[in-house]
Amino acid sequence: MRASTYPLIDADEAAALVLDRIPVLGVERVALADCVGRVLAEDLMAESSLPAFPSSAVDGYALRASDAGKTLRVAGESAAGRPFDGVLPSGAAARILTGGVVPDGADCVVMVEDVQVFGDAVTVPPSLRAGSNYHKVGDDVRAGDRILVAGTQLGAAEIGIAAATGRADLPLGRRPRVALMSTGDELVEVGRTPGRGQIHDSNRWALLAALREAGADVHVLGIAPDAPDALRALVVDALEEADALVTSGGVSVGTHDLVKPLLESLGTVHVGRVKLKPGKPFTFATLPGNRVAFGLPGFPVSSLVTFEVFVRPALRKMQGFSHWQRPTLPVRLAYDAKPTADRTEYQRVTLHREGRDLVAETTGSQSSSRLMSLAGAHALVRVPAGDQGFKAGTVVEALILALP
Ligand code: AMP
Ligand code: MG
Repeated sequence: MRASTYPLIDADEAAALVLDRIPVLGVERVALADCVGRVLAEDLMAESSLPAFPSSAVDGYALRASDAGKTLRVAGESAAGRPFDGVLPSGAAARILTGGVVPDGADCVVMVEDVQVFGDAVTVPPSLRAGSNYHKVGDDVRAGDRILVAGTQLGAAEIGIAAATGRADLPLGRRPRVALMSTGDELVEVGRTPGRGQIHDSNRWALLAALREAGADVHVLGIAPDAPDALRALVVDALEEADALVTSGGVSVGTHDLVKPLLESLGTVHVGRVKLKPGKPFTFATLPGNRVAFGLPGFPVSSLVTFEVFVRPALRKMQGFSHWQRPTLPVRLAYDAKPTADRTEYQRVTLHREGRDLVAETTGSQSSSRLMSLAGAHALVRVPAGDQGFKAGTVVEALILALP
């Protein structure tokens, strides 16, 4: 063992330092079918109005409001996609269906329930209002309007509106290509039986899920041994194709911890130790070619918490999201959140409702090896370093992972 030479950096400073060095990747055009969950790279402007024509909201009759109370000849029909031909003569009505074009000359639509039909004539109600029962040109969107803002995550409605304006594809932020690697001689693949002293490589699967959820296109490198040359060969090869490298394990100060020296030799290590619990050995480096590397600690909770604090916001910045951080909500603590003297701590909690409040319960032992402290957690409570902490009953802003 040797003492680490890396300065211990404040957790917020380290997060800012990482984000400052994260590049925003380019823009690519993506077919609508593949846009869900991704981020729009440019503002989307409406080239034409929606609706583009006066469109009936109901099934009924289109006519002039000034013909209220009269019996009108039915001069034809306007169905969706099959408009009435020409101008509606005065003293006449056109049968109209939902989505049909309100004919020129007509200024209102009467619901079929409100008229009396006699052969090819209809008697309409005694009082009518011009403009009723149809959508005017531009009611939903006017030509030139900004429909969606760059940085927005695309869900069903956003993709729907893009399609409604005729777009077949959209300019999106490119997804980061991330090479993912676990390190450690003790690791075995899931599906195999560990020998004495061996454990399953669980970080790979946890981080693969976390990376995908954050929008990354992941290339899984598998398990690297605690041997410098083999590790180096794997990483150098993987970086040819990757925007970012994410490793787990091998960043503490044991003699088998090889990731920091490797990153030193390939680029510049900016963060080597953080005043963070869990996750003190978190390592961040920039590499030639606008690439970055995140060396996450091996303990399962440490790797996922440092992912949340450093990697997820970075991946979102790379893609061009306008929001990089998890949302926060005020939660009332149901436990005494004890602080760590010299490190910011992210404590894992579950949430439940009590009246209007969200109440946070600890997930139990916060050991960095105990993945059960994070499994099923709804939020992270950030407890500043010092001797204060938060007493039960205190309301704090928590980072929301999932709502109950
Ligand atoms: P390290 O950071 O390599 O010293 O690892 C710290 C602890 O995390 C050790 O107990 C490792 O066995 C464990 N660990 C490292 N990598 C993984 C992994 N991929 N999956 C599960 N546990 C791991
Ligand atoms: Mg190790």
